Amino acid sequence: MKEYKPYLHSCKGDRPEVPLVPSEITQAKKATYVRDKFIDSQMELVSKTRIEAWINRLTSSFPTRHSKSRFINQVAEWLKIEFENIGHTNIYFHDYTKSNYQLKNVICNKQGKTDKVIIICAHYDSRMKEREDAESSAPGADDNASGVAVVLETAQILLQVDLHYSIQFVLFSGEEQDYWGAEEYAQYVKDNTMDVHRVINLDMVGYPPLGQQNITIERDIGNTVTPCNRVSSNDNDSETFAHSMEEVASVYTNLTAIKGPIYGSDYCPFENRGYVVTGLYDEGQDNNPHYHSSDDLPSDLDMGYITSVTKLIVATILKEARTGTS
Ligand SMILES: [Zn+2]
Repeated sequence: MKEYKPYLHSCKGDRPEVPLVPSEITQAKKATYVRDKFIDSQMELVSKTRIEAWINRLTSSFPTRHSKSRFINQVAEWLKIEFENIGHTNIYFHDYTKSNYQLKNVICNKQGKTDKVIIICAHYDSRMKEREDAESSAPGADDNASGVAVVLETAQILLQVDLHYSIQFVLFSGEEQDYWGAEEYAQYVKDNTMDVHRVINLDMVGYPPLGQQNITIERDIGNTVTPCNRVSSNDNDSETFAHSMEEVASVYTNLTAIKGPIYGSDYCPFENRGYVVTGLYDEGQDNNPHYHSSDDLPSDLDMGYITSVTKLIVATILKEARTGTS
């Protein structure tokens, strides 16, 4: 058995010494892509108003979403109800205990033609600069109400769409305690031999680099990143999938895709168990001055940008899961 050591950083911690790679898709190449009419029709349904409402409510309804606060399981209950209100029916808690804290991941299943599953995930907990501060106001708008809202809106758009793959929408607690929830859930997935096709993680997708609409697509690039890169057999599929997302970004959104490494978020426990992972990230740790503070508020987010990120996820899923054959 491989031994999984605890990770030193979360959200996002030290950036590895790996350069960001600008998109390789030229205007000439972009002009050769054919838009899918059905995907176009679904893009029009993605709602900035709904996304903004989810972020506003998530950040204002609970003083903090710290995983050691008394509010954390109230947030889980609230999220479960949101999935129910969307119209999903297969929603449950994945309960776990860490350091005597009884916590929940929120799982919403959408059955496809096969049991092969794409996991779309984000963490719903928040934190302050002082990681153990479970009392101070920690609205966590960028980190990570933004990612949660993208997951909820994607669940909304895909509700009625028939897909080849099953989709699991997963919201984790304990990310800021070094991926408590994701660690427990990745092991649960492995123990139950779930057939996971891809894991897509959303952690900080609301605060774009100033004046730009750049999104970093994080992929698994081998052993260059030690905290989150233990398996090598999953690297190529991650790179290929990231490239597919890059194409989708150029065809269906106004985002400019940059490719970067996976590190410091909930995909790490999945990567460590061999699953194919990617993530989306706004580079907010370096750009957002409100990161891990009481000032990480919805008023500082770019709701249009988050809407574009949601379109990127929805179009990626539609492209991948409507035509899947394996
Ligand atoms: Zn985060």
